[in-house]
Amino acid sequence: MSAPAEPEPCRTCQQFDLEEAVARTERDGSRATDCRVLRQRHVAAAHGE
Ligand SMILES: [Zn+2]
Repeated sequence: MSAPAEPEPCRTCQQFDLEEAVARTERDGSRATDCRVLRQRHVAAAHGE
C-alpha cells in the first residue's frame, strides 16, 4: 500500500502532540484545547491543509 504524499514527521506537530498529551495527563483541558488550536493553525500555515 502506497500512501500519496505521506508527510514526514514534523517536529512542531510532534511537540504540540506531546504537549497536548501532557496537558491531558494533568487534566488541563483548556491547555489541551490551546495546543490543538495552535497545532491546527501551524498545520494550516506550514503544511497547507
Ligand atoms: Zn507540522
